[in-house]
Amino acid sequence: MPIQVLPPEIASQIAAGEVVERPASVIKELIENALDAGATFISIKVDEAGKRLMEVADNGKGIAVEELPLSIARHATSKLSTAEDLFSISTLGFRGEALAAIGSVARMTITSRVSGVESGARMRVEGGKHHQPEPVGAPVGTVVRVENLFYNVPARLKFLKSDRTERRQIDDVATRYALAFPGVRFQLDQDGRSVFHTSGKGDRRETLGTLYGVEIARQMLEVMAEEDALSIEGFISPISLTRSNRREIIFYINGRPIYDIALSTALLQAYRTLIMVGRYPVAYLFLRISPELVDVNVHPTKAEVRLRNPNQVFSGVQRATKRALLAHTPVPTANGSADWLHGGWESYTEKGGQHSAIPEARSSDTLTGNHEKTMEFAKQIPSGKQGQVESMRTPILRLIGQIASTYLVAEGPDGLYLVDQHAAHERVLFEKLMGQRFAEIEDGDQVASQALLEPIPVELSPASARLIEEQLPVLNEFGFRIDPFGPRTFLVRGLPTLLSGMDPAAALRVLVEDFEEDEAPLQSETEARIVARVCKRAAVKAGQVLSPEEQRALLIDLEKCQSPRTCPHGRPTMIHLSVDLLERQFGRRGAR
Ligand code: ADP
Ligand code: MG
Repeated sequence: MPIQVLPPEIASQIAAGEVVERPASVIKELIENALDAGATFISIKVDEAGKRLMEVADNGKGIAVEELPLSIARHATSKLSTAEDLFSISTLGFRGEALAAIGSVARMTITSRVSGVESGARMRVEGGKHHQPEPVGAPVGTVVRVENLFYNVPARLKFLKSDRTERRQIDDVATRYALAFPGVRFQLDQDGRSVFHTSGKGDRRETLGTLYGVEIARQMLEVMAEEDALSIEGFISPISLTRSNRREIIFYINGRPIYDIALSTALLQAYRTLIMVGRYPVAYLFLRISPELVDVNVHPTKAEVRLRNPNQVFSGVQRATKRALLAHTPVPTANGSADWLHGGWESYTEKGGQHSAIPEARSSDTLTGNHEKTMEFAKQIPSGKQGQVESMRTPILRLIGQIASTYLVAEGPDGLYLVDQHAAHERVLFEKLMGQRFAEIEDGDQVASQALLEPIPVELSPASARLIEEQLPVLNEFGFRIDPFGPRTFLVRGLPTLLSGMDPAAALRVLVEDFEEDEAPLQSETEARIVARVCKRAAVKAGQVLSPEEQRALLIDLEKCQSPRTCPHGRPTMIHLSVDLLERQFGRRGAR
């Protein structure tokens, strides 16, 4: 093929691909435009995960009718005129690409009015071409309506994820901007239902409460620091509030949410040894840096920036977070062992060396790896075959006692066993609940549920609420009695009998966490996860004194388990010190 210049429609579609990847990118750009126009009220309406309709209305300064056609031209912007301006940018947009991009891959209608003129104007755009603007009555401000996204780029449509995921992306984007601009009133509706609306009163903690729930807002610690050219403010979670992923670590630079792995690493450093390996804090941190020290023009979606003095910014973040944490966190009583406690199982085995860990308790036992085992087990129940894999079972153990109110000491046929009571109880609960579920499903029943004396309302963030709502049928089968109660609140009426006594709010929150990760988890995996999460919370804690009867009962229950040697999360429930090892340690063997 000879070299040829691409026709403009194709060129603009290619360019659009960089800016508009999915519905949420459209929402992002339109929100940014509204904010740049000085809006104090932004209303976002979405239908069918943005595939059918997205509409963003603002009360900003509007676009003059004669400028409407220009607004959709590529590289047309009112926010920048010289190359130097690039280094003093105080607006969110500046590339003049968004409207052009959206207009070339969707049917777009812009309605706008500037103050001081009689009427507004409406302009329709299709496949990058615009019609003549027509006069219409409209309030001051702008409404951009985007229909049938990617109608002319079917390949793009195929790349979109499930509606559920796309909706969540939209929720996330809108939530992020609403938090960044507490002085602006935001309203998000999806499929005719309100996802959230903020007050616009300017109080960030209040906005945090509206978006993520009052309980989270109450717990979050305040960060506030000012150094030379950098100011940092926002919220970080106390060490008691963690997540299974980094999704809620969000940095903003000059009002713009950005992805910067180095910044989140700086934050994680501040939490190091304070929270478990594999857990992540929640953080919303707003950095202000003088514009000449930030290059925002490195990424088409402006999601990344380049910093002039990255190290100064990273250490600033680390200091500010550390200070906020220390102000609220009692200093842990550190001793030699605390290190591996915090470092978790893996660092223990790395350092340990002396002890022989139970063979199948690999540190590489991921949650999924374990699910397979769980599923194997679960399948065995209905058929009534207690398929026994001998090596996985525990030997009969003779209880000796409890140490540190955390570990049970027992003697087995080949030496000493230390059992982590919490992990062991998790395993026992897990298998009981799974077993009960499968047995009762066989009989066509649901898992026994115990009603709470008083239903308890639990408020969640929009995204979490959506997840719970989608899992309600599954949860119901497990004996949870949860009803939707307002847009983001659920009424917990009952818990599975096995979990009676557990804090219902805690139960609901842990359920959310593991759903968050995957797109469309397998049903059976979801179920196993639900149970694993819940068992973790419900199990007897380390540090809880157990009576000798309770200790013995726990060991017996554990012996009955199919996979007694790991908890449902893959950590070991027991450590074995063999007679052989003891003999070596005492110099009885090998030394001779
Ligand atoms: P950019 O935001 O990078 O300038 P856009 O393509 O997003 O590029 O928008 C082009 C221009 O259209 C903006 O510079 C602005 O002048 C105008 N515009 C877009 N949306 C709005 C809005 N909601 N209110 C007022 N003006 C707008
Ligand atoms: Mg823009």
